[in-house]
Amino acid sequence: MPTYPALQIDGADHDLVLAVVDDAGPLGAEDRGTSLTVFFQTPTERSVARAAVAQAMPHATLTDREIDDEDWARRSQENLPPIVVGRITVRSTRSTPDPLEVVIQPSMGFGTGHHATTRLCLAALQRLDLGNCTVLDVGTGSGVLAIAARALGADRVLGVDHDPDAVRCAAENLALNPDPRGGNRVAFELRDLARNALPSATVVTANLTGALLCRAAPSVIGAVKPGGYLILSGILATERDEVVTAFSRLQLENEAAEDGWVGLSFNRSIHDTV
Ligand code: SAH
Repeated sequence: MPTYPALQIDGADHDLVLAVVDDAGPLGAEDRGTSLTVFFQTPTERSVARAAVAQAMPHATLTDREIDDEDWARRSQENLPPIVVGRITVRSTRSTPDPLEVVIQPSMGFGTGHHATTRLCLAALQRLDLGNCTVLDVGTGSGVLAIAARALGADRVLGVDHDPDAVRCAAENLALNPDPRGGNRVAFELRDLARNALPSATVVTANLTGALLCRAAPSVIGAVKPGGYLILSGILATERDEVVTAFSRLQLENEAAEDGWVGLSFNRSIHDTV
């Protein structure tokens, strides 16, 4: 059975620990009262986190642990704190009927809101008036952006992903977010950006990678209706210029940065009809 590197922290403020280990890319955290266990992909990431916690909280007790629990991801992510980005809150369980509270179950689908790239998109979506808009979310993962777009007023939303597990997981998350305005206005489809043409929408979101965005730029641009908007994320600060060049047919309207990641928002001219 595979084991997963984890770090157990006792005697420290849990929120502070989570903030300090964030740079090491934790996969999840499990809160057990006085102790907090944070899970990592690799022992190297754990060492980076350990050093950061030791420096920030010299009085905390740190213990390396190897976890052989197949369900560790679900168990640990269930305890991740809610994420608030503007008007949207992303949580693993519902606390209010407010549709702006987006419930995303921890699972294999990327996008619990705990990654800066997702947060950059959630913030960018709120800069737009989504009323009457159609939205296409390319690489939907957990479906978080698609579900949030509908909650923010979009008329119709389609999320696509090339990973069948993501599509299944997005549909499961959709069921946890009843639509207050009714109707089946959010859908998820299996589609590979590299192989299949994308349907067009007024607003397109694509939280992928800088390299993939550059390669797929013509297809992504083609999916944005003239006069519409494109929100890109998953771009490292070092990839920013290359991505802006690949999308130079569009007007760069806004950019934001978080944790070394860049989010870019573009407008496609209403006259750009070819
Ligand atoms: N939109 C979510 C998830 C982003 S992670 C969020 O913002 O948090 C990126 C997602 O893109 C993954 O689910 C991955 O499966 C998907 N993806 C990667 N390459 C793709 C491709 N060629 N076509 C479609 N989806 C792709």
